[in-house]
Amino acid sequence: KLFNEVQELKGNIRVYCRIRPFLPGENLKATIVDYIGDNGELLVANPSKQVKDKPRSFKFNKVFGPAASQAQVYLDIQPFIRSVLDGFNVCIFAYGQTGSGKTYTMSGPNPPSEEEWGVNYRALNDLFNISQSRRGVNLYEVGVQMVEIYNEQVRDLLSNEASQKRLGIRSASLSNGLAVPDANMLPVKSTSDVLELMQIGFANRAVGATALNSKSSRSHSVVTVHVQSEDLKTGSTSQGLLHLIDLAGSERADRSEATGDRLKEAQHINKSLSALGDVIFALSQKSAHVPYRNSKLTQLLQSSLGGQAKTLMFVQVNPDVLSFSESLSTLKFAERVS
Ligand code: ADP
Ligand code: MG
Repeated sequence: KLFNEVQELKGNIRVYCRIRPFLPGENLKATIVDYIGDNGELLVANPSKQVKDKPRSFKFNKVFGPAASQAQVYLDIQPFIRSVLDGFNVCIFAYGQTGSGKTYTMSGPNPPSEEEWGVNYRALNDLFNISQSRRGVNLYEVGVQMVEIYNEQVRDLLSNEASQKRLGIRSASLSNGLAVPDANMLPVKSTSDVLELMQIGFANRAVGATALNSKSSRSHSVVTVHVQSEDLKTGSTSQGLLHLIDLAGSERADRSEATGDRLKEAQHINKSLSALGDVIFALSQKSAHVPYRNSKLTQLLQSSLGGQAKTLMFVQVNPDVLSFSESLSTLKFAERVS
């Protein structure tokens, strides 16, 4: 029922906004959130102005307020996830500035507690559980790849020895092939497999982080779940792909600090986030030309953006007034693609 609803989406693109709560110690800060409606309305305003500005209004497919739990959020994602078992390709993104809750939404805290599992754990576990319960009718195989894109280079997060190797993206036969054929693919056969492989990915993602700057906020991480199913009656097979993407922080680089490597990183992030925005915008307009070639990220996801594929973008917002202008630009980015 929900799934039909998902199929009817205009251009198959859906945008959810999630406002994170104030964290312990941030309790006395002022919020930019004025109003959250049940039907995706959001009003934000800068509370520090002496004469308060008129609130800006936005409309998304859904807005999750600070009190929304991981389980509640997952309920509204589940139809997308399950459609992968029927052979659909699905991309779920988290977009927003560093500290806005992207990783919390996609993965949850590390180490993980089941109650706070993010989309990654819940989706993998769900796919694994359903694929088990449908056995007898279908035979499913679930496999996972995990890569990171940093400075327009693709690195495997599930490989120990070859983790510094740069991986190529294959553009030919994208419809059913692997976009990154050389990245390790690990089979998922149990919940503990899910937990284990996420831990390997997390650990490898942290490898490049230095004390001063966490590289994870400046790279995109892409978890790709491949589901192969075989109909045991007819013998026909189908394949679905699920991409779960924790994007690099969308904040504009501080001009005074952005030199050398930092400047290069910022330019790569800008380029890939705007390339992603352009692709999703072209799809939402049903444009004849979709500019996939402008970044590694959009090349990698090409087979899962557009066509029959479904896209879900989480726009993550930090409610703190100090982040007001970054939050506004995040919301405007999302408004353009929704
Ligand atoms: P990002 O990945 O966008 O940089 P994080 O996901 O790391 O941001 O979130 C920043 C901090 O806020 C983390 O300590 C995270 O645990 C916390 N946080 C984010 N969203 C929530 C939420 N919905 N509920 C509770 N804590 C959250
Ligand atoms: Mg993060």
